[in-house]
Amino acid sequence: MKALTFHGPRDIRYSEVPDPQLIDERAAVVRVTRASICGSDLHIYHGEGFSDDLGFCVGHEAVGVITEVGAAVDRRSVGDRVLIPASVGCTRCQACDEGRTSQCTSRSGATEKCYGLSTALQGSQAELVAVPDADRNTVIIPEGISDDAAVVMTDATATAWYRARRARIAPGESVAVIGLGPIGQTAVQHARLMGAAEVFGIDPVPERRRMAAVQGARVVDAEDPVAQVREWTGGQGAHAAIEAVGADATIEMAQRLVRRTGRVSVVGVNQNKRYSFHMERAQVKELEFAIGLCSVQFELPTLLELTRAGRLDPEVVITHRLPLSEGPAAYTCLDTKSWGPSLVDSSS
Ligand code: NAD
Ligand code: ZN
Repeated sequence: MKALTFHGPRDIRYSEVPDPQLIDERAAVVRVTRASICGSDLHIYHGEGFSDDLGFCVGHEAVGVITEVGAAVDRRSVGDRVLIPASVGCTRCQACDEGRTSQCTSRSGATEKCYGLSTALQGSQAELVAVPDADRNTVIIPEGISDDAAVVMTDATATAWYRARRARIAPGESVAVIGLGPIGQTAVQHARLMGAAEVFGIDPVPERRRMAAVQGARVVDAEDPVAQVREWTGGQGAHAAIEAVGADATIEMAQRLVRRTGRVSVVGVNQNKRYSFHMERAQVKELEFAIGLCSVQFELPTLLELTRAGRLDPEVVITHRLPLSEGPAAYTCLDTKSWGPSLVDSSS
């Protein structure tokens, strides 16, 4: 089959690779109809990935049709139209029974809990992808939900919802979203849906600010976003901040943007694994700080209902559609931000 594979920093190739096989009797194989590129893929592209492996298939956001199931798969069949959550769990531990796949105790480390980070779980920017524990790691796409909406829900929509939930946004509050990629754009939608009176959008890229404004954000284009947000909130700062970049500077900015007793919710994956937390500021301001990895399976039931009912529009982050063969060029365009936040490859 054809797939996008990683060969070193800024070296993604459209390659011929062996077709995936059923890993075991609980697994399935899915023919991918849509895959998308995420900010986390850009970490790998920059050579700041999660393993030293080379040649593996990249990508963790995909939907498709099941072509093969193992003998122990009970709830899925060949021909089912499914979305494949980016977070990978098992069918054996209690955390996964509760939908909290990011806390799965059978799988260890990022490379076993997400596709396309190493050779451990091959990625889904490919014609076919092997899905372990298919009863847990595929979700039937309900009638009325398009493939485009579903592919965004495999990660971005769910992650943004999870972070907005953990920011505990209450009606009438002000919320700052730092980083307006697919996750930040969606977080703007979610904060508004949860009743935020105002959502401030912060990103250096004008096109992303423009898109966030369409989502209803009040965009900050001042030199000093902290000063601007303070001014807009009567000198107080926002009630909550969602950090969707993944850098020391923006996590720090989030702590400064919120008012006393404010909440900071971090979604960005920071490659600095030893972030030095400004303990004194957090203590003096009585801040709440939440961070984690999204369990997509846990968030999906709510999001599918909101989307089906027309309250959420996951597709708004899609700006380009193109064949899988143009994937390497797509990475370059996304990296240089010459394109909008997201893009969907049709691999059929
Ligand atoms: P993206 O790369 O498309 O978007 C990031 C945005 O941040 C860009 O628009 C960029 O211009 C902006 N940015 C860069 N520096 C900034 C600054 N100083 N101030 C404000 N904005 C700045 O990424 P994405 O797909 O939206 O993902 C966002 C982050 O979330 C990534 O780090 C990704 O790895 C992470 N992520 C986390 C989870 C999770 O479960 N926690 C899941 C998926 C992705
Ligand atoms: Zn992702």
